[in-house]
Amino acid sequence: MGPIVIVGAGQAGASLAAKLRSLGHAAPIILIGEEPVAPYQRPPLSKAYLSGEAGLDRLFLRSATFWDEHDIALRVAIRAKSIDPGNNTITLEDGEILAYDQLALTTGSKPRTLPAALGGQLKNVFAVRTLAHIDAMAANFRKGARALIVGGGYIGLEAAAVAAKLGLDITLIEAAPRILQRVAAPETSAYFRRLHTDHKVTIVEGIGLARLLGEQEVTGALLSDGHEIQADLVIVGIGIEPDVQLAAEAGLTVDNGIFTDEFGRTSDPAIWAAGDCASFPHQGRRIRLESVGNAIDQAEHVAENMMGVGKPYQAKPWFWSDQYETKLQIAGLNTGYDRVVSRVGPNEALSIWYYAGGRLLAVDAMNDARAYMVGKRLIEQNRSPDPASVADLATDLKSLLK
Ligand SMILES: Cc1cc2nc3c(=O)[nH]c(=O)nc-3n(C[C@H](O)[C@H](O)[C@H](O)COP(=O)(O)OP(=O)(O)OC[C@H]3O[C@@H](n4cnc5c(N)ncnc54)[C@H](O)[C@@H]3O)c2cc1C
Repeated sequence: MGPIVIVGAGQAGASLAAKLRSLGHAAPIILIGEEPVAPYQRPPLSKAYLSGEAGLDRLFLRSATFWDEHDIALRVAIRAKSIDPGNNTITLEDGEILAYDQLALTTGSKPRTLPAALGGQLKNVFAVRTLAHIDAMAANFRKGARALIVGGGYIGLEAAAVAAKLGLDITLIEAAPRILQRVAAPETSAYFRRLHTDHKVTIVEGIGLARLLGEQEVTGALLSDGHEIQADLVIVGIGIEPDVQLAAEAGLTVDNGIFTDEFGRTSDPAIWAAGDCASFPHQGRRIRLESVGNAIDQAEHVAENMMGVGKPYQAKPWFWSDQYETKLQIAGLNTGYDRVVSRVGPNEALSIWYYAGGRLLAVDAMNDARAYMVGKRLIEQNRSPDPASVADLATDLKSLLK
C-alpha cells in the first residue's frame, strides 16, 4: 500500500495515524492540521485548562517526539484546500500537492457562530472550540466581570461552571424552554439548573438573544423578551456543525456529516472519514457522534479497515461532563425514549435511566460511577432491567448484571 494522507490533526486524526503505524503500515503517513499546534485534547479546554488547573503540556495527545519516532509526518498550521479524487491528490493552501493511495478525513466540527448582524463579530465575543478560542476568552476571565453565556448545552454549562468558580458574574440564556433540552430529560436539566443556581449563575430559559449590543466591543445584549442585560464578555455555545467543506467540494456524499458505510468508507472508495465529521449507520439509522470516545474508536476502526481488515464499526456511545464538583457520565443514546426512571442516591448522586418500549437506551449518571458502569454494560449487552428495581435504592446495581 502507498502513502496515506489524513486531513485533520485532532483526536480522530491522531488516533488514526498512530493506529496505522501500530498495525504495521509501512508507507508514508502524512497528518495535516490547520491549527498551529500538535494534536491536543479538547475536553479540558472548557474544564481544567480554562480554569487554569491544567497547562498546555497536559493537553497534548502524544509526546513531542512521538511523531518523529513513529515516522508520521505531522504538518501543522496548514489547511488542506481541496481534494482531487480523480487523481488521488490533495492540494494544500500554499499550493503544494500531495498524492495519496488512501485518504482519511478527520476534519471535526466547527462551532456555530452568531451572525455579524446579531453582533457576532464584536470584540470579546468568544466561541468554545479551539485552544486559540480558550486562550482569548481566559484572558478576560477577571473576578467580577459580567459574562453572558448564550446556549445551555454542555459546553455553555461547563464554561459557566469555570467562570463561576473564578468569581465572574454570569447569566446564561437558553432559547429552548429548558437547558440541555436537546440532549437530556427534564430531570437531568433540573439537576444542572439547581447546581448552577446554587453557584449563583443566573439561568434564563425560554428566552433567546435578539442581538448583542456595542460598537466595537460587546457591552450587553438585547433579549427576545425586550430586556437588556450588560456584559463585558459573551461566550457563544450554540452547537457545532460537522466540517464537511472539503468533502462536499470534492463531490463526496454528505448527509449530516461526511457519509460513510459501516467500515468508515465514504462514497469514494479511496477516501475514509472518522470522528465528529462522519455520519455512519447505527442500529438501523444514521448517526453522527460528537465525543472523544467515538473519535478514537471510529478512527481506530477506520485504520484497520484501510489496512483491509473489513471490521464494521459498532459504536458504543459514551460521554462525560465536569461541572463544579459534579461528574456526569452518559452511556448510550437516549433518542426516542418514552420513559425515564430516576435513581436518587446519597451525596448528590442521581442517575436517569431512559427506556423506549421497555428497552434500556441510555443512562445519565451524576456523581454515580456505578450507575454509569452498570448501565453501560447493560446497554452494550442489550439488556433492560426492570425500571422499579432500578429506582429502588435497595437494589444493588451490580446484581442487575447477573
Ligand atoms: C470545549 C470542548 C469540550 C468537550 N468536552 C468533551 C467531553 O467532556 N467529553 C467528550 O466525549 N467530548 C467532548 N468534546 C468533544 C470532543 O472534543 C470531540 O468530539 C473530538 O475532539 C472530536 O475529534 P475529531 O478529531 O473528530 O475533531 P477535532 O478534534 O475537532 O479535530 C479536527 C481537526 O481538523 C482540523 N481541520 C479541519 N479541516 C481541515 C483542513 N481542511 N485542513 C487541515 N486541518 C483541518 C481542525 O482544525 C481540527 O483541528 C468537547 C469539545 C469541546 C470543543
